[in-house]
Amino acid sequence: MAEAPGFFAEGELVGVLTTQPLDRLLDYRAPEGGCHPGAFVEVPLGPRKVLGVVWGPGKGDFDASKIRSVIRVLDVAPMREELQAFLERAGDYTLTSMPAMLRLATRAPGLGDPPSMRKVYRLGDAEPERMTDARRRVLEVLRDYGGLSFTLKELAEQAGVTSSVIKGLVKHGAVREEDTPRDVPFPTLQPDIAGVDLTGEQADAVEALREGVQSRAYGTTLLRGVTGSGKTEVYLEAVAETLRQRRQALVLLPEIALTTEFLTRIEARFGARPAEWHSGATMTERRRIWKMVGQGGTQVVVGARSALFLPFRDLGLIVVDEEHDTSYKQEDGVLYNARDMAVLRASLCGAQVVLASATPSLESWANAEAGKYRRLDLTARFGEAVMPEMRAIDMRAETLPSQRWVSPTLQKAVEARLAAGEQALLFLNRRGYAPVTICRACGHQVGCDHCDARMVEHRFLKRLMCHQCGETKPLPQVCPSCGAEDRMAAVGPGVERMSEEAAALFPDARIATLSSDLFGSARALKEQIAEIAEGGADIIIGTQLVAKGHNFPNLTLVGVIDADLGLQGSDLRAAERTFQLMRQVAGRAGRTEKRGTALLQTFQPEHPVIRAILSGDEEGFWAAEANERRQAGVPPYGRMAGIVLSSTDMQEAFDIGNLLARNDAPLRAAGAQVFGPAPAPIARVRGRHRVRLLVKAPKGVALQGPVAQWVGQVRGSNQFRLSVDIDPQSF
Ligand code: ADP
Ligand code: ZN
Repeated sequence: MAEAPGFFAEGELVGVLTTQPLDRLLDYRAPEGGCHPGAFVEVPLGPRKVLGVVWGPGKGDFDASKIRSVIRVLDVAPMREELQAFLERAGDYTLTSMPAMLRLATRAPGLGDPPSMRKVYRLGDAEPERMTDARRRVLEVLRDYGGLSFTLKELAEQAGVTSSVIKGLVKHGAVREEDTPRDVPFPTLQPDIAGVDLTGEQADAVEALREGVQSRAYGTTLLRGVTGSGKTEVYLEAVAETLRQRRQALVLLPEIALTTEFLTRIEARFGARPAEWHSGATMTERRRIWKMVGQGGTQVVVGARSALFLPFRDLGLIVVDEEHDTSYKQEDGVLYNARDMAVLRASLCGAQVVLASATPSLESWANAEAGKYRRLDLTARFGEAVMPEMRAIDMRAETLPSQRWVSPTLQKAVEARLAAGEQALLFLNRRGYAPVTICRACGHQVGCDHCDARMVEHRFLKRLMCHQCGETKPLPQVCPSCGAEDRMAAVGPGVERMSEEAAALFPDARIATLSSDLFGSARALKEQIAEIAEGGADIIIGTQLVAKGHNFPNLTLVGVIDADLGLQGSDLRAAERTFQLMRQVAGRAGRTEKRGTALLQTFQPEHPVIRAILSGDEEGFWAAEANERRQAGVPPYGRMAGIVLSSTDMQEAFDIGNLLARNDAPLRAAGAQVFGPAPAPIARVRGRHRVRLLVKAPKGVALQGPVAQWVGQVRGSNQFRLSVDIDPQSF
């Protein structure tokens, strides 16, 4: 698109990008008073008013007499050229239309509303005359969040009470009601409050990152270090340097790692809380952050991946914590990998990127090897803590009753920890009670009616649930296939079943089960985690929810119930994922002075991945993985795109897949090959059949153009859909 001049005077033609699905910019006349390029505007479209951004000059290829005027310019900072360029480049990379990209960047609603006052509630001085459970919950929420204020709705939701309870407390003076302007800036963060005394290794890493930030230029650093080595301490110093440079910092976390513990830590280092951007944030709060980042009214945003699209005024640093986390790649209206997009955005705005991980992705490892990223290693755990001792339990040598999963060896190890007053974690990456419900009379397995997936028993919910589409149904008393009564049986373990087994094996232990299904809210989960950290449980049973970020100081044993779980299947990334997950989980043990132990139950102790996990020979593991991928010509040593064709009619999906496979001239011309069609990894979801094609090309080929041209040969219809996934997660 054309280079934008400095200002559009009233009546000049401007090209406006809207979030409406149109494939071009629309011409309008600049309003009275003119407008800047990047201005957020309201424009007429047919009978409606829609939100748009002045993207550049108008083309003037419309009938001049029909061109309408911009209705008004919104009272927010114009979108910077940097963000415009980012949306364009990210759209080109992910093959996404510009309206869809703009939607990512304008998700805060009510953008154009005039500033208004709203009522907020915070802790008062008085005690209520009479305390009830509901009142206590309200006061607890307010105390927990320190000085923070809430809107009536937020507070009622957080505390699980009706608004009349809060109003009652206001009458008693136990809660204060205040009028606040909606768009207040965030408190100022202080970079120079003393942090911890860094170790030599940490100080060197900080120095290197500081220099990067001071350069005010783009650069990416892979910050590698075992859990507990101080990566967070180190990157917070890079954040401090960014503040000294009067630029803004963004810290991205997998949603699940955005804990109170983490925010409190930032507050301790900088004297105030940062802006928090996540899916649980209220619309009011999102709008405030959206506006404030544009005006420089917030210096640090801590958030989930979508924070990447905020209109920062001057972004100087992006930290991607747990950069290997697969949740960074997700469908979010647009299919993108937040890690890669962070690097793209930083390169356009002259910012530094820090990719932090104990177990980096092979992609980042390879980029560091190739010299594209700088690599900093923290090799020691802080203080006395060392990586736990890792051992396999060879399940072929263990005898245990059927439908039991804790081996005698693991049982003894847990008992020893209990006797010593320490905590043990039993890890199983499977939600629910049992993965399979089978009829003992005919062998029928209960599946989802809409997906190609088995229904998973959730005893806590007293229902079966499909983990693909979320559909639930009651546990059948009668076999849906043969009609036999009372013959349905749960087969295999999920975490809920593990807690049953643990209760039987360790009757005196206090057991806490951590699985996303068991908690009604993020808050309830956070409370449970805090309680465990303070010693409120002896045995923790958990899914991958516990693998990330939480610090349980008294935890000294990790038992992995099924270390082989991730190694099944044909996915080329399975080894990488299992290696990362196992190392992360093991890292939970012994974070303080007590050395931990990690025991992996496995039927294949000689498997190369299991051996690498046990030996901790990461470099060896990565080198071997890299070698395999290089030979297969797959990412990061080749380019790939996945094309999913879905339809309610399986035959249609296959027919179109075959048509594309035959007409592959645009791909061949570019040096790319197509494989398939084949049923997608999950062949049916929500009643739609899914067929997948994979496109593969050498590293030097830019796939987007050829792929767009190639899939352009078929058209979507009512029942047929096509989606392109550049750099698919599984192949
Ligand atoms: P990581 O992010 O690599 O898991 P953290 O930065 O969270 O590591 O550090 C682990 C723990 O050790 C934290 O409680 C942190 O405050 C503490 N820690 C790390 N380095 C130091 C240090 N140099 N002095 C004091 N405490 C430290
Ligand atoms: Zn389903």
